Amino acid sequence: VIGASPCAAQDPGALARAGTDAIDQQRFGDALEAFTKAAARRPHDPNLSFGAGLAAFMLGRSVTAQAHFERALALNPRSVAAAEWLGDLHYREGRLQEALAIYEAAERHSPDAPALQQRLAECRKELELQSRFLELRTSHFIALFERRADEGFARVVVDRLEAAYSRIGAVLGVSPSQPITVVLYTREQFDEITKLAAWSSAAYDGRIRMPIDRGTVDRSELDRVLSHEFVHAVVATIAGRTVPTWVNEGLATALEPASDPPADDSRRHEARGLALSALHGPFVRLSKRDAEAAYASAAQAVRRLIEERGVTAIVALLKDLGSGVPFAKAFHQRTAMRYKDFAARLTRGASAN
Ligand SMILES: [Zn+2]
Repeated sequence: VIGASPCAAQDPGALARAGTDAIDQQRFGDALEAFTKAAARRPHDPNLSFGAGLAAFMLGRSVTAQAHFERALALNPRSVAAAEWLGDLHYREGRLQEALAIYEAAERHSPDAPALQQRLAECRKELELQSRFLELRTSHFIALFERRADEGFARVVVDRLEAAYSRIGAVLGVSPSQPITVVLYTREQFDEITKLAAWSSAAYDGRIRMPIDRGTVDRSELDRVLSHEFVHAVVATIAGRTVPTWVNEGLATALEPASDPPADDSRRHEARGLALSALHGPFVRLSKRDAEAAYASAAQAVRRLIEERGVTAIVALLKDLGSGVPFAKAFHQRTAMRYKDFAARLTRGASAN
């Protein structure tokens, strides 16, 4: 509405500062709005397009983010940051060819950027590997695997994923709109590409990645792992990239299929009630023991939320995050509890046990 805002707020410089502040404070919805307005007023400033791209990326709005990053890169082909983010966006969506082209062009303009060179080398190698992969499609999934001999296992994987799709879709009332790719690797390929801790059994980074040696474990364990990673895919679709790790991992763990009492799965037994504030960042750098405690605490917190407010409150919270509402505010408006009160109650409950 013209005239509704003070003139200063419409000034591109002021909008850019507001956008930067919003990014620093993880208010990505506000950041996207400020940078989009600023970029419309000053269309030849690559930094404004880059800011808008970054905010959109964090909100999980890939198409918008891509357009802004491309604009930023067109205005300043030497921007290593814009190239890295745009390349990463393509990479996460499984468009390795496009990611590689971005990295190669950026390297021509900025031959002295080591991080860029590393991404370029990794992407080239992964593309080379993946170009040999075979493909199997079902309604909602695409499995990629290297050897014809693995086709049977790939078939089992997509069948189990379709089962998870139906089950989780019924529980959450939402499903991903795009097909999800699952890439099956040897353990060596998996370790090299994901660089995850040795304890990790699969990963989701836009695509599900899984070592084929999971095929030697029993079917209920395979179901558990695939269902878990599928929930991450759903969360990414709804909420973008600002979800605290405890919510994401807790939901994925809490929605794992019920199975026989897991004799060898200690993480179901020892919820040590870690403070949620310590569980917002990634678990991947933790030791196996700390990771088990982190998963258990995250699952305990999400199970408590489901008991008290229902899974629909969590889905609504995730949708809020995807539209740019900061976490504590979304938590409050969807659960009618203040986040810090909930977190304090959980920690107290755990230490009283
Ligand atoms: Zn997980």
